[in-house]
Amino acid sequence: MEKIFGYIDQNLNRFIDELFVLLRQPSISARWEGVVECSQLLTGIMEKIGIKPRILPMGGERNPPLIYGEILNPEAKRTLLIYGHFDVQPPEPLEAWDSPPFQPTIHDGRIYGRGSADNKGQFFAHFKAIESVLKVKGKLPINVKFLLDPEEEVGSPSLNGFCRGNKSLFAADMALNSDGPMDTSGRPRLSFGNRGVIYVEVKARGANQDLHSGNFGGPIPNPAWRLVEFLSTLRKPDGTVAIEGFYDNIVPPTPQEREMMSKIPFDETKFMEKYGLKKFTPPEDVSYMEKLMFRPTLNIAGFTSGYGGQGSKTVLPCKAMLKMDMRLVVNQDPEDIFQKFMNHVKKHGFEDMDVTMVHYYYPSRTSVDHPMAPKFVEAIRQGFQQEPVLIPAGGGSFPGAAIRNILNVPILSVPYGNHDENNHAPNENLAIDCFKNGIRTTAALFYQLAK
Ligand SMILES: [Zn+2]
Repeated sequence: MEKIFGYIDQNLNRFIDELFVLLRQPSISARWEGVVECSQLLTGIMEKIGIKPRILPMGGERNPPLIYGEILNPEAKRTLLIYGHFDVQPPEPLEAWDSPPFQPTIHDGRIYGRGSADNKGQFFAHFKAIESVLKVKGKLPINVKFLLDPEEEVGSPSLNGFCRGNKSLFAADMALNSDGPMDTSGRPRLSFGNRGVIYVEVKARGANQDLHSGNFGGPIPNPAWRLVEFLSTLRKPDGTVAIEGFYDNIVPPTPQEREMMSKIPFDETKFMEKYGLKKFTPPEDVSYMEKLMFRPTLNIAGFTSGYGGQGSKTVLPCKAMLKMDMRLVVNQDPEDIFQKFMNHVKKHGFEDMDVTMVHYYYPSRTSVDHPMAPKFVEAIRQGFQQEPVLIPAGGGSFPGAAIRNILNVPILSVPYGNHDENNHAPNENLAIDCFKNGIRTTAALFYQLAK
């Protein structure tokens, strides 16, 4: 490994220059800007390293270009599937950036630019690990396959169907995802799963236009009240979700998962202070980590109606909208939960509202005693020279379930982004040290998996 790590040190500046080429290419899936161009740029980059790329159109109106890549060694016994995504979030608000989002720059040891950490810089680390091993050793000790998603930032709408139709192409022993931030303590993380999510929009209508609240108020129904009444049916006084059957399929943490959670560094007092909080949501006997990893949520993400500007405006609004997300845990099924949500709407007589499901991800969990997990731990130790924090299930969502449950490949997540990477926000950045340690970790993982 020392020779490989030496190669990484000697070539790091060039690696960063090459990453800059990728970061200069916008690939904003939300408005379909540059995603196709980015896929073409990427296949060129992969070919140069020795990874055989293929653009696989996913079908439908937009026909998104999923990138498959492989580098096979006929003597290798194991195959690693690497998941990454090459689309990025919109960069707005532009004025909040210290440097333009698609003109990457370095300062204070960090690479700034949209996609630097989420996710171009992180999967690029895997590319450079492959290059380093090939240059030093001539071949990889395992087979590596890539699945680079063009639509992760918009909920990967085509991925489940595509995976169902292409199972054998992605066959592997193990999958790796590097996305998101490391632990706030500065230590790396190894995560065994993630929560799912379902996003819904609820709209209520009143009159066909806004009206004077005095000249018309009283006889005219207000759609904002309608939504408030609806919201009040969704939650019990103890804070639990009142949708019938919502908690039916939940699997509580195993003793090993509980033990893992108890070892996650977490300073409750400091945390409360940082976010200006006095207390957490009930129930009090369920820990912060368990609420975050093993309990579902029903969140009001947005509520808009009437006038919210300065001063007063006595208006009777004609429409009101709610945006809600539900974070789901194993084994809740987003389609089943949406059905239960709709049953609730009907049962309580709110059929006049307009409900749409925007997108969803399934929850996913790989067993914490999976026999390959210690190999990941050892690779992280070598790459970061630190002990990873082990996370039974991350609170956020990503399409891990497509790989875990559809392709049937156990997937583990090892984020290479610094904890303050500002993903989805202005001044997104990737610490150069994290990028380098990520390349080291991936290279070490190849050899751990080959054992
Ligand atoms: Zn993202």
